[in-house]
Amino acid sequence: MKGGYKNFHTKGFTLLELIIVIAIISTLAMVLIPSLTEARNQAKLISCKTAIKNISTMVENYSVDNNDKYPNLDFQVTISSPLKDYYTSIIKCPVSKDEYYYYYLSNSNSYQIYCPTSSSTLKHKTPKGIIQKLYFDPKEGTKEEY
Ligand SMILES: [Zn+2]
Repeated sequence: MKGGYKNFHTKGFTLLELIIVIAIISTLAMVLIPSLTEARNQAKLISCKTAIKNISTMVENYSVDNNDKYPNLDFQVTISSPLKDYYTSIIKCPVSKDEYYYYYLSNSNSYQIYCPTSSSTLKHKTPKGIIQKLYFDPKEGTKEEY
């Protein structure tokens, strides 16, 4: 009898134990995977906002070197754009994998920098919803439209 009891335990998992383990693992996965995706989306949004801020610093440096004038045309901020002398590395949105847009606002002698997801089908996803437009305005800061 003692031998039989010992045998039962050295055989490995019973079917019931396996089912319980699989149920626990799948429950954990169901809880963890959405929050991991959310954390990754949040990290992409933060790095996109940082990229927009870096471009605005490039624009400000450009104006310092050009009699306080901003570039007075619209363009995509690539390594061959008017900001090329201020480019230190390739700056792309981590969601759309595309370059940012610079828009000159002639009536206020100001500008806006848009995340390329604003004109792409790929969007920033947040717990608040999907961002349709993400841009920086030197007077208002970084703006999100849902
Ligand atoms: Zn972006």
